[in-house]
Amino acid sequence: MTSTNPAAPPTVLRGVPVVAGVRCAQVIRPVRMPVSDGPAADLAETLRPAEAARCTAAAAAVAARLRERATRATGAAAQVLAAHATLAQDRAWLAAIDNRITAGAPAVRAVAEATQEFAEMLTKLGAPMAERVTDLYDIRDRVLAELCGISEPVVPQPDQPSILCARDLAPADAAELDPARIIGLATTLGGPTSHTAIIARELGIACVVAVAGLDEVPAGAMVLLDGSAGTITVGPDPAQIATAPAGHDAGAWIGPGATADGHPVALLANLQDAPAAGAGGAEGVGLLRTELCFLGRDVEPTVDEQAELYGRVLTAFAGRTVVIRTLDAGSDKPLGFVGHPVEPNPALGIRGIRTAWRHPGLLERQLEAVAVAARDTGQRPWVMAPMIATVDEAKSFAALARSLGLSPGVMVEVPAAALLADRILDHVDFLSVGTNDLAQYAMAADRMSADLSALTDPWQPAVLALVGMAARAGRAAGKPVGVCGEAAADPLLAAVLVGLGVTSLSMAPAAIPAVGAQLARVTEAQCRAAADAVLAATTSVGARAAARAAMGE
Ligand code: PEP
Ligand code: MG
Repeated sequence: MTSTNPAAPPTVLRGVPVVAGVRCAQVIRPVRMPVSDGPAADLAETLRPAEAARCTAAAAAVAARLRERATRATGAAAQVLAAHATLAQDRAWLAAIDNRITAGAPAVRAVAEATQEFAEMLTKLGAPMAERVTDLYDIRDRVLAELCGISEPVVPQPDQPSILCARDLAPADAAELDPARIIGLATTLGGPTSHTAIIARELGIACVVAVAGLDEVPAGAMVLLDGSAGTITVGPDPAQIATAPAGHDAGAWIGPGATADGHPVALLANLQDAPAAGAGGAEGVGLLRTELCFLGRDVEPTVDEQAELYGRVLTAFAGRTVVIRTLDAGSDKPLGFVGHPVEPNPALGIRGIRTAWRHPGLLERQLEAVAVAARDTGQRPWVMAPMIATVDEAKSFAALARSLGLSPGVMVEVPAAALLADRILDHVDFLSVGTNDLAQYAMAADRMSADLSALTDPWQPAVLALVGMAARAGRAAGKPVGVCGEAAADPLLAAVLVGLGVTSLSMAPAAIPAVGAQLARVTEAQCRAAADAVLAATTSVGARAAARAAMGE
């Protein structure tokens, strides 16, 4: 049982660290309105068409408001809100509501029942579809609010800086967080690559997910959140608050990325659009997730449309490295215009580079658009393919990219690619390690599962051994090997990756200053010692402790 009594000793809850930073504040919790079943009696037949129209209008109003919020947001928040808006217009869900109203149910009951049916169906399908249940409930609550003429649920906007604790956050809620008021975020569910985690990272909000026991911490409790250790201390004593480590806050770091003894490490941004400003001092773009640019689209964007987008990113980072990843469609990022087959295991199915087999011309048109953008802007973008598993895949991607004058690289997300990194590097100019998927595939654990987040922890020594293997191959070939998975945004782990021989780190822009500050505090030799210590560890917890000790923390 969690203690919130000030006289009781502090209780430490453990979760998965996502965004570094130590924060102490009172807990607030999102307020969701209770969902009513609506009137029990069926509607008279004459009233049903008007009730159905009222419901359709309510869903359309919710979708329009979310789309409008998407146009005012930037980055991941904008993409997530736009995708959320399409859910409010999901044809199958709306049809299920309509059928119920036609059979006599009032709109409120029809929405609640249809949502329940869909939620149960999604839950049975397992991850990643089950992840959408939170989204669906959020849409339901918004439509019910619209039908009842009350305001939509909102994330509380506290007067005091607070720590938001929630079971899970709907994307629309996560996108709404104000980092000046919400200084820490903790969720019971979610994994290190969930929407909540991605947005927290982008906003620079210290964050821990998959926290066991968090549901019992009430609003108003004082907690100390440590986003590096992945802990929530409930009722910390005053000495703990006073001596709380400064975390990995950036202080006066101004870049460029380098260790204390001057070993350069390019710190790059993960983006899905041209940035509105600065991008956290990024020295370039290490990962443009092009599939996120086109979420919710049913028609393939034209070469010209794609070229315009890529051109904007190239112009924003003129003269600097820009790595454009070709569409990583499928699994957790399905695209309407790609038309994915129904597969029992989408994460092991046709995703990433494999979609090119089923859709001749899709990859060629995308690379052509990059080539057009390169010509129009006079820049030299790098292109990289996701989900490469064989040397032949890397070879044919490289040949295609080179035929268009582009510099090719591939992602190392499948353990097979790490194991054969030396032979893949015979064909490509660079590698970029995607630790999110590499952890998923190395540990045979779904990256979206909160229950398995200890396995998908990038501190797992087996995952880091694979990263080390890719980095060694890069050093031998004299070619760059970066990391663009979420691991790069963890300051302590970033230093370990440098010790493993990684040459660049790409992350959400908000994470760059803290990573830059951490690297500036340690020497390359300390990073190497930490890497050796981590590779000798047998658990992720042991790896973290060994890295801290090796770096004198
Ligand atoms: C990764 O797998 O680490 C990666 C960067 O790709 P994504 O998260 O987009 O799958
Ligand atoms: Mg990936």
